[in-house]
This record gives sequence, C-alpha cells and structure tokens, in this order.
Amino acid sequence: MQAIQTKSTPINETLEKRPLIIAGPCSAETEEQVIQTATRLASSGKVDILRAGIWKPRTRPGSFEGIGTKGLPWMQQAKKLSGLPVAIEVATAKQVEDALHFDIDVLWVGARTTVNPFSVQEVADALRGVDVPVLIKNPINPDLELWIGAVERIAKAGIKNIGLIHRGFSSYGNTEYRNAPMWHLAIEMKRRNPGMLLINDPSHICGRRDILLDVAQHAINLDFDGLIIESHIDPDNAWSDAKQQVTPEKLAEILNSIIWRKEDTTSEEFHADMEKLRQQINHLDDELMQLIGQRMKIADKIGQYKKDNSITILQTNRWNEILDRAFRKGEKLGLSKEFITKYFDAVHMESITHQNKIMNG
Ligand code: PEP
Ligand code: MN
Repeated sequence: MQAIQTKSTPINETLEKRPLIIAGPCSAETEEQVIQTATRLASSGKVDILRAGIWKPRTRPGSFEGIGTKGLPWMQQAKKLSGLPVAIEVATAKQVEDALHFDIDVLWVGARTTVNPFSVQEVADALRGVDVPVLIKNPINPDLELWIGAVERIAKAGIKNIGLIHRGFSSYGNTEYRNAPMWHLAIEMKRRNPGMLLINDPSHICGRRDILLDVAQHAINLDFDGLIIESHIDPDNAWSDAKQQVTPEKLAEILNSIIWRKEDTTSEEFHADMEKLRQQINHLDDELMQLIGQRMKIADKIGQYKKDNSITILQTNRWNEILDRAFRKGEKLGLSKEFITKYFDAVHMESITHQNKIMNG
C-alpha cells in the first residue's frame, strides 16, 4: 500500500491545528482493520490524528478488553501507511512504557483512570522525563476537582503539552445520552485552564450515531478546539462500542456538515453591534437581580408571618402551584421546562435560606 503522506509534522504542531480532529476505532481489533481505518480516514483529508484503544477498560467483565501490546506494531504500521500520528489510551506504568517503546505520538488518560488518583499518579510517574503530549479525559463522575487533579499530577511529572477531552459524565438512569454532557463543567474547566487544548468526544457522550452531529456542532458552537470521534470500517460489527461508531466516509460527511465557528473576528461593525447587545444584556441582568432582591424581601416577610403563626417553611401545594404557573408562562415565552425547573429551584432554595434565617433569628 502507498503511503498517503510522507513528510511528518512535529506532533506539537499538529496539536495546534484548529479544529483538531482525532478519529479512529474504539478498539484496535486486527492489523487490517487498523490500517484500513487509518488510510480511509487520512484520505478524507479531514483527520489529524488516528486513535485506537489497545487496552480497553470495560465497565463489566466479559466484553472485549483490548488486543493488548500486540496491537502496538499495527499502530506503527498504520502511521507509516497513512501519515497520521497515532494516539492510544494508557492506564498503567507498563502501558506507558510499551506505548513509548512503539513511538506512540499522543497518550490519553481515560475517564475511568481520571477518577482514580492512584492510577493517574502511576501514569504520571511513568511519564517523568518524557516529552509526549497527554490528553486527559474528564472523570466519569461530574467532579471538576478530580479532572483538575489529574492535570496537575501529569503537569508535575514534567509533561508540557497537556490537553483536555470532554466525554460527558455518567448518570443513573436512562437519558438521551450515554454520558450526560453537562456542558457547564467543560466550560468551567476551560475557564480554569485558559489556553489549554479542549476537545469534545461526541461518541462517548452520545453512545449512538444519530445524534453525533448535534453534539459535535454544539461543542463547536461553544468554541471547543476540536473533536475526537470513533470511526470503524464496519461499525455494526465492531468489537466494542458498535452503536456509536461510524465509517470513515460517514465521519467525513459529519465533519462536512458542521458549521465551523471562530471565537472572534476583526470586523469593527460586528464588535460595535455586539457591544450594544451586550449592554442590553447587562442592563436586563441588573434589573433581574433587582427584582430577585425584591422577591427575597417579600419572602422574608412571609417567613416572619410563618414564624409568628408556627407554620412550616415548605408548603408543597404552593410550590407546585408556582411551578405549574411558570411552566405555562414559560412555554409561551420560549423558555424550556428544564430551564424553568432549574431557575425556580434556585430561587426557591434561596427563598428557603432567607426564611430559615428569619425562623432561627
Ligand atoms: C475510549 O475513548 O474508547 C474510552 C474508553 O473512552 P472513555 O474513557 O471516555 O470511556
Ligand atoms: Mn469507545
């Protein structure tokens, strides 16, 4: 097979590309599968790095746990033939050692590893003195401190090029997603790590193909730096995560459909218009705060009456009435039920805090 690309770009330069696209199978299964996926991905011209899982941390035993070290030469071969640098997940010191031995270009720490500081530390210690980029997935549970802790451990080991992967958070019960995106946590992580690469993993968020584009577009709208998406030559027969993988050609279609946005523009007219709209928003936010302040003052008064008459703070019927009213009004105003619930929950909790102070005062 002919190499598609011959001259190689230094990996740190590749990681600067925007949008950065990492793609490849959930798991390396056979040499042919890895190489075919790599060359088909490379020929789309839209993929920057090939991914594949060599060791698979599975939630339950009995499913495919990865091909192991045997798959590493396949990655080397795929890189040679496709010209794409390669990335794999590592979770132990031995895996780091093996990956480096086979010249893997980028390592990533998986969600099940990020939750465990012992494992992250083991990986970090194995990386000491090594110059390799490391991407860190968010932990499976929505705990920002664990994610930050993992970044700190890897940084302390001397790794200079660290990036973040947002792959969603597991939640109990069935939702639309395999892993709830909880976008606000990714946004907060970006705020706390300005300038650090942040890419989105729609595959593990969605767990299915049909909503990959929606989630990917959402991430790009939120100014993520790129995407990591699972791609397989025969998705239905993949040995792991079959439901969420797409063929390299389908992936190219998805990437073509995304409207790529940038954070900023130099157009003066745009900035002037934005400034006006932002001032309107600031003004409305000030008014909303004033109104909420007034609302709390009334809650204080109600608290006083309840105290004088020895009545409980929480009155479920009244609370249901408030919510029903808000849902009806909100719908007409184009406000989602989810937002109304969150907003009223927050206002209600603040109101209860105020009333509690009065009761105990
Ligand atoms: C993977 O990328 O294949 C993987 C196992 O992902 P996560 O760690 O996000 O579950
Ligand atoms: Mn997977």
